[in-house]
Amino acid sequence: TNPLNNKVALVTGGARGIGAATVKRLAQDGAAVAFTYVSSPDKANDLAASIVAAGGRALAIQADSADEAALRAAVERTVAHFGALDILVNSAGILQMGSVEDFALADFDRMVAVNVRAVFVAIQAAAKHMKDGGRIVTIGSVSGTRVGFAGASVYSMTKAAVAMLVRGAALDLATRGITVNNVQPGPVETDMNAPDQPHVPHVRAMMPVKRLGQPEEVASLVSYLAGAEAAFITGSSFTVDGGYSA
Ligand code: NDP
Repeated sequence: TNPLNNKVALVTGGARGIGAATVKRLAQDGAAVAFTYVSSPDKANDLAASIVAAGGRALAIQADSADEAALRAAVERTVAHFGALDILVNSAGILQMGSVEDFALADFDRMVAVNVRAVFVAIQAAAKHMKDGGRIVTIGSVSGTRVGFAGASVYSMTKAAVAMLVRGAALDLATRGITVNNVQPGPVETDMNAPDQPHVPHVRAMMPVKRLGQPEEVASLVSYLAGAEAAFITGSSFTVDGGYSA
């Protein structure tokens, strides 16, 4: 009943949205879960406390994914605190919309740092500690295969990049029994898709199922990929989008 018993997980960007749903789900499934956040200490501490109150193990770590040293330190702290690292979920991500005509280079660099470079750094740091049976899941996006609307070129580029990084990392780590996969959600109801965002009405109208996804509907697939049954699945991208890209 607890498929992730005795496993230790680290989720980046775990205070809100898909990351938070993943933290909860992995904890429910029996894992000890560390997670990073950058700007929501209250939400992070509440989430950790609620898991501990329910009898689980959780650790909130402030670490900006754009800061290589902080991210590496978060991996080390997870291992020091829980004694191992079996599962890494890269969920931290940012969406900055804008046309190529005037997209600021600082925003470009920040998105690449958080959405791409941090995924590489976390995989590198985590893989060092993982044993046979290790699991790495990255949250990409359906935007990595189809941009869909104007203003999302840089975001989509970062998500296409992680899709290929995952495939390469899967090959690098295959002989060690560590799987690496990419989950590509379509529009999910989180702060990233707050109702006041200009792209949201357009996206909502394009949903075949007439609703956005819930974070838990992504977390369930992450949990499956993190489990023992998914040992033969590696180097793959999985779409979870209510038919959006069909
Ligand atoms: P949210 O904006 O709801 O939450 C983002 C989370 O990431 C927060 O916990 C935030 O921490 C954390 N985070 C942001 N920047 C950093 C950083 N520099 N370092 C550490 N943590 C950071 O996002 P979603 O849950 O919607 O998105 C999660 C992932 O899923 C992202 O990679 C996103 O691109 C992807 N995705 C989302 C979709 C959607 O429709 N929502 C669709 C497809 C993919 P804090 O709370 O401290 O700010």
